[in-house]
Amino acid sequence: LSPTIAVLIVSCPCALSLATPATITAAIGRLMQEGIVVSRTTALESLHRLELLFFDKTGTLTEGKLRLQQHTVIDPARDQQHFQVCSAIEQHSEHPIARVFTAFESSLVATEVQNTPGKGLSAHVDSTRWYLGTPEYIQEQTGQALASSLRDSYRGQTLVVLAHPGGIVALYGLADTLRDEAPALISWLKKRGIRTAMLTGDQQDAAELIADEVGIDQVYAGQLPADKLSVVQQAQQHSSGKKIVGMVGDGVNDAAVLAAADCAIATQGAAALASAGSDILLLTPRMSAIRTAIETADKTNRIIRQNLIWASSYNLLAIPAAAMGYVPPWAAAVGMSLSSLLVILNALRLKKRQA
Ligand code: ADP
Ligand code: MG
Repeated sequence: LSPTIAVLIVSCPCALSLATPATITAAIGRLMQEGIVVSRTTALESLHRLELLFFDKTGTLTEGKLRLQQHTVIDPARDQQHFQVCSAIEQHSEHPIARVFTAFESSLVATEVQNTPGKGLSAHVDSTRWYLGTPEYIQEQTGQALASSLRDSYRGQTLVVLAHPGGIVALYGLADTLRDEAPALISWLKKRGIRTAMLTGDQQDAAELIADEVGIDQVYAGQLPADKLSVVQQAQQHSSGKKIVGMVGDGVNDAAVLAAADCAIATQGAAALASAGSDILLLTPRMSAIRTAIETADKTNRIIRQNLIWASSYNLLAIPAAAMGYVPPWAAAVGMSLSSLLVILNALRLKKRQA
């Protein structure tokens, strides 16, 4: 009877079944303290195996606090009014660009607003149809092309055009500030063996300027939300099985890509739609949080492996010993509890602050 009871106690897979969930729970708790919310537990596994990480530009690599660098009014009749028109239209947008214009007071009201993510907005203001967005969007909607000499004088800036069906009214050149920790993060990712790329709806020259500053080698500019999606899906397909691809984004225009990525990270202040599709939500503006998340995921993986090896070797050795009568039931009970305790204590190492 005694060896039978001992075997029954020893073979209880308590430690084995605690090994993974206890570790993941500890890791999620640890990340929460750092302002990193893990909304899908599989995120830690994908973070650990990440091979390629895409970054959105505006609001992700940059602060998303755009400033008006310069502007040109082409239609002198609207000289007094163009900022007010823009302000009225941008009241209806969540894009970081909107805040540049809503800072201007406006007594005008925009109706029938149409928002085309990655391109711009169209609205009815003061009994005229208006279009505000990229030069390509303006050409598409009004047939008005921008003179290349004008375009050149805005090189490196995010260019926004205001137009109505009668012609182009004004141009605005916006500039953004790079996030402090972005270059350090990119260089750490490269050292860790994770490739990086920029995925943005902004124009090529503005995108390349930021890419050079942060050290990202690959740039995909002028990407509409659907283009962004296909770039990520293509990157995921790899001859030797599926490639683990991540995306960091903030905007409505990133929502589809975030949903498709294996590990989606939404930055602080991201649009609700972007946050909803994310695996990890940052509550801190610090870019280094992404490094913390990856380091924690690596450590989680290590601890899960240690725990599984420990728990299974304990059972493998203790069951035959108990069956041969070497382990009295009381010792089996103590051993089983200690083994579970060890697994939990090992998992709790994740709670310690990394140096
Ligand atoms: P990103 O990928 O860098 O976040 P988006 O894809 O959101 O950029 O936008 C691409 C471009 O579309 C912007 O650079 C801007 O020219 C234009 N655009 C998008 N939304 C707006 C808006 N609300 N107002 C004016 N222009 C906009
Ligand atoms: Mg963005």
